[in-house]
Amino acid sequence: MLTIIKQGWSTFKSIFTGMGVTIRHFFGPSVTLQYPDERYELPENSRAKLYVNIDDCIGCNLCARACPVNCIDIETVPATADVDLGKTSTGNPKRFWLTRFDIDMAKCMYCDLCVHPCPTDCIYMVPEYEYSEFDRTNLIYHFSNLEPEKIAEVKEKAEIEAAEKKKKREEMQKAKAEAARKKKEMEAKKEENEKSGDDDNAPSKPESDGGE
Ligand code: SF4
Ligand code: SF4
Repeated sequence: MLTIIKQGWSTFKSIFTGMGVTIRHFFGPSVTLQYPDERYELPENSRAKLYVNIDDCIGCNLCARACPVNCIDIETVPATADVDLGKTSTGNPKRFWLTRFDIDMAKCMYCDLCVHPCPTDCIYMVPEYEYSEFDRTNLIYHFSNLEPEKIAEVKEKAEIEAAEKKKKREEMQKAKAEAARKKKEMEAKKEENEKSGDDDNAPSKPESDGGE
């Protein structure tokens, strides 16, 4: 009999405790966010998604080198002498075309290590977290704003300029080698002349009279 009373008391106690919690929350302020109609505002320094202000990027590759999982892929092409790419908003001169600037957010581990070395502060995290995708490849973000035709054009121009520079360098090296060869030849000739001059001026050997 005592056991039945004890069990009954325990049952009622749990029911009232549970109901007490329910009633307290029922009359208290709501803590549930009605997503997606409502959204939490993330703090400014939250790490949610990377963004690159490509107009301020100088293609230095420091962010890609800092990334521990290689999720930043950058390809640059040097601007030819006839092109002025201008400066970034921080005053850094731009010398490269950014023909590729991809970030694979599927690989990113939000460590922020790429953000700190950037000399122009153009790569940073933005408080945006709604970017789920069914296809992983859609998480590769392409930040280069150059059209494929423009990329082909700048690559071709850069290749031509590089070939011309190489040719000039080779010609200069050739000319230098030729000058060095001529100098050596002249020095050898001079040495030879000096030697033959010394031989002419050398005192002749006295002739032996055979009497001694
Ligand atoms: S946050 Fe970290 S993992 Fe992500 S791209 Fe930057 S360096 Fe790489
Ligand atoms: S570190 Fe900054 S400037 Fe350099 S390549 Fe990365 S984003 Fe561009």
